[in-house]
Amino acid sequence: MAGDGGVDAEVIIVGCGPVGATLAVLLAQFGRTVIVLERWPEPYPRPRAVHFDHEVARIFQSCGIGAELRTISEPADLYEWRNASGTTLLRFGRAGEGPSGWPASSMFNQPALEELLNRRASALPGITIRRGAEVVDLHQSDETVKVLTADDIEISGHYVVGCDGANSTVRSLAGIDTHDLGFFYDWLIVDVVLGDQRVFDPINLQVCDPARPTTAVSGGPGRRRWEFMRLPHETLEELNDEGRAWDLLAPWDVHPGNAQLERHAVYTFNARYAEAWRAGRVLLAGDAAHLMPPFAGQGMCAGIRDAANLAWKLDLVLRHAASGALLDTYQDERMPSAARAISFSMELGKVICVADPEEAASRDEAMSAAVGPVPIEVPALPGFDQGLLSGSPHAGQVFVQGTAGGLPFDEVYGTGWRLVTMDADAGELDIDLRTWFETIGGRVVTLTPGEPDHARWFSEHQTSTALQRPDFYLYGTATSAPEAAGLLADLRRNLKASAMPRACR
Ligand SMILES: Cc1cc2nc3c(=O)[nH]c(=O)nc-3n(C[C@H](O)[C@H](O)[C@H](O)COP(=O)(O)OP(=O)(O)OC[C@H]3O[C@@H](n4cnc5c(N)ncnc54)[C@H](O)[C@@H]3O)c2cc1C
Repeated sequence: MAGDGGVDAEVIIVGCGPVGATLAVLLAQFGRTVIVLERWPEPYPRPRAVHFDHEVARIFQSCGIGAELRTISEPADLYEWRNASGTTLLRFGRAGEGPSGWPASSMFNQPALEELLNRRASALPGITIRRGAEVVDLHQSDETVKVLTADDIEISGHYVVGCDGANSTVRSLAGIDTHDLGFFYDWLIVDVVLGDQRVFDPINLQVCDPARPTTAVSGGPGRRRWEFMRLPHETLEELNDEGRAWDLLAPWDVHPGNAQLERHAVYTFNARYAEAWRAGRVLLAGDAAHLMPPFAGQGMCAGIRDAANLAWKLDLVLRHAASGALLDTYQDERMPSAARAISFSMELGKVICVADPEEAASRDEAMSAAVGPVPIEVPALPGFDQGLLSGSPHAGQVFVQGTAGGLPFDEVYGTGWRLVTMDADAGELDIDLRTWFETIGGRVVTLTPGEPDHARWFSEHQTSTALQRPDFYLYGTATSAPEAAGLLADLRRNLKASAMPRACR
């Protein structure tokens, strides 16, 4: 039954995995109406993601699940690679908090996260989740888009977002091709709950043994994850077997007497991306838009970043505060980061998945010689230099979440557009600009004196005002009150432009 402006919901999300659920929550928090259509009657219980980074944690925090997230995750400060004889080949270090005010790396259990997101989604007005609803067809016109479910129910919205995973139906129905990067390895994934408390040092380990490349990492508090590569002589059936899983766990002193095998499944790791992430009123996000092997722990993270990028843009377009051209910036902005995550995951995979002993021996020699006393940093993913951003320094980079009165900044000032300044004059906007800024959910936050994290950030970046977008990236920075007002005026102009001007693409 059509309601909102002649449609059933403003946005239809196809797929209620982590990306669809996150997008639904973010949109509903902006006041948008959303219908989520999910093929399966129950959430997917199989093992998959175990890692997220600080930026993604901040996005989950903005979904209102920050406190619970801390209880289902644990920080991981080290990811070490060793060869078959235990020699260290590589050490990635991610100690302490990242710039977003969360541990640089956290380990978790995906079904537990999805439960948190689903519970949050169910509590928000504006979201309807229909499970057991498989989308099989889609048609769009100038104003609306309609989807049809397998049980012949038609649902209409202004936009459809395909968050329907690697084999996305929405992608196919919208006629969007994928580009395959030719990476295929089969791995057995095993999630274990240990009966006794054990300390694993390092917490995350990659065993680059050509006789069986193996991953042994945290699966969140109380859980461990093992991943075993299929060898060239093995069939999928031989590997995807509970008895085989126990055999492979035995060298780790994990057996039915001290552990419960929660789940096992074989996955083929792939690398590919959709060639377009928008076709009119249809958009793609998450695995539907990009797929990568899990060695960098970034597949879901990339999808959550998509959701954060898309939610506020859909909101502004739907309430006519921005032109539809804003949605064209989505792929421009997200693609560089997703592409880098895909290529980095493949680079890691090509080193890890070596099953030839000679190739492994020469790899080990080169890598062990390069190991230094200090763990190397995981390279940060790039921001963007095309999209909705100003020409000022640091535009397109992720902004810090500092503290305010000892609490996380976002808990005190909320999320949305934030003009954060250490310059009291820059915070004094004229009434017209301030009123407009408030209509897009903007808020001015003057920090004088600044709390240490912000003070450090502003000093290191030689600026005094930052205009943060709702996805925590910077629209731009300013060093004076007139520049800060100019930044906002520039944003107002660009949001209304019928095409994003060259300077901001
Ligand atoms: C072994 C493994 C380890 C991983 N480790 C990590 C990690 O550590 N960190 C990380 O960030 N990522 C990791 N990933 C990747 C991560 O799990 C995925 O990127 C993430 O689950 C994708 O989320 P999504 O919401 O886009 O898609 P999905 O989780 O696949 O959800 C898609 C949903 O759409 C539904 N659907 C599909 N078609 C339809 C239809 N026609 N109609 C209605 N509903 C439909 C599906 O039923 C499903 O519920 C890993 C993946 C694997 C396989």
